[in-house]
Amino acid sequence: MQPVFRFAPSPNGALHLGHALSALLNFEAARRMGGRFLLRLEDIDTVRCTSDKIDQMLDDLRWLGLEWEDPVMRQSSRFALYAAALEKLKGKNLVYPSLASRKAIQTAVDGWQEQTGQEWPKDPDGAPHFPRALLADLEKQGTDAGWRLDMKKALACLPDQSHWSETGPLGSHYPAASNIAARPEEWGDVMLARKDCGTSYHLSVVIDDAAQGITHVVRGQDLYAATPVHRLLQDLLGLPDPIYHHHRLLTDLGGDKLSKSRGDLSLKALRQDGVTPDDIRRLIGWSDDDLMAFMPLP
Ligand code: GLU
Repeated sequence: MQPVFRFAPSPNGALHLGHALSALLNFEAARRMGGRFLLRLEDIDTVRCTSDKIDQMLDDLRWLGLEWEDPVMRQSSRFALYAAALEKLKGKNLVYPSLASRKAIQTAVDGWQEQTGQEWPKDPDGAPHFPRALLADLEKQGTDAGWRLDMKKALACLPDQSHWSETGPLGSHYPAASNIAARPEEWGDVMLARKDCGTSYHLSVVIDDAAQGITHVVRGQDLYAATPVHRLLQDLLGLPDPIYHHHRLLTDLGGDKLSKSRGDLSLKALRQDGVTPDDIRRLIGWSDDDLMAFMPLP
């Protein structure tokens, strides 16, 4: 089977060196494995994902030397498909409407912790598990709401535990195994369809990886913890599961992960300072070792 790779940035800010690493890994792996390289714009946030950010992003990627197949997939043109998947989950009674704001959630959790002296469980990303029982009164009012996955019901409707294939290099951040047991129960009731756009990163990403026929998802280690949720949704929606590779993250000298809010490290700013695409490869510590992990041995 021909391998299919993708780079799937969210054009809500400028690309930085971490994106360059991700994009190059996908592009080079596709090229050297005789595979395809696709681009997908994860622009469900149509307010923050403006056309000038998209133009800048495409320009930066071309400048880096990347070429991708046409057409570029844009999530903003696929809301009807996400709505259809949500209907499917509604039909199985696996989602429920939810309107509580982040602030209401935090207040409820803080109150509970104060009263009980105990720690409320957290999602792997540090946010509290959705405190459905604590917010029952507020949630009853909701018609104009987002939709959350009922994690307990979702797990109960699958017969077996899911696994995924993870290729190295296996750093200290995650277990050295290629067949990893997904534990989506570490997450609470995740938001699957935000009120503002009717979908979410989790829901859209699994639908689109399947629609684009992606065989290898190569993305940053920060998304490793989200993979069990993706495996669960793939199982619930009857979608294929790709091989995953979560690559090293770039940090600044202080050890902090690069982020879009740090405009000083954007590719655009570096280009304006006269940095070349070869310099970018040096700055991200480009090495074929990064590719070896998921390329079959000759
Ligand atoms: N759109 C996500 C981001 O820019 C990446 C999603 C993925 O690769 O699964 O962080």
